[in-house]
Amino acid sequence: MPQLNLVLLGPPGAGKGTQARRLAEDFGLPYIATGNMLRDAVQAGTELGEQAKRFMNNGDLVPDELIIAMITERLEQPDTEKGFILDGFPRTNAQAEALDRELLELGRSLTAALLIEADEEIVMRRLSGRRVCVKHQHNFHVDFDPPKHPDRCDRDGSRLIIRDDDKPEVIKHRLDEYHAKTEPLIGYYESQEILLRIDGSRDADQVRDQIRATLAVLRLEGQK
Ligand SMILES: [Zn+2]
Repeated sequence: MPQLNLVLLGPPGAGKGTQARRLAEDFGLPYIATGNMLRDAVQAGTELGEQAKRFMNNGDLVPDELIIAMITERLEQPDTEKGFILDGFPRTNAQAEALDRELLELGRSLTAALLIEADEEIVMRRLSGRRVCVKHQHNFHVDFDPPKHPDRCDRDGSRLIIRDDDKPEVIKHRLDEYHAKTEPLIGYYESQEILLRIDGSRDADQVRDQIRATLAVLRLEGQK
């Protein structure tokens, strides 16, 4: 069976996290979210984790080489035999090139870069409608999962608020950042002819179906 070595791209609110978890389930692939991986390594006190911690404690960004080393270490685990889903890395062309080099050394290469897209209006509606309770962080959405009483948590009666990250001006900023940083990366994978565009504006089940069908075709082609 050909490997599915995948990178996930997409703006905040496009449903990347949700789809990644389903993809992991559907194809039996480990979901490697670099943000979590970094936190886990620091917590576990691995050698790379200790190194990363020094940068983080100084308020510095963890250098690319260190993250690449962690990813490489992760990819040597037997559960990545059938492939993997990488999320949160690469974020720049330099990182993408470094990743390609490391994969080559492992005798692997990316199968596809999945770009889950959704236009700004949809993303804005999804993110700005989110509400969270102050007591236990239960989640609601004003349109898709409304609480019975506005501004009150159904489960514990505590007050519902909008997280700072979900305020319209902050969402706008996150989207601008995403576009500025990720557009070149999209071009990078397009030129390698491995970019797959997925329509993330539809509901989660439809998006999942589109991804499954696309990857099934890819796997068949890989067997030829
Ligand atoms: Zn609650």
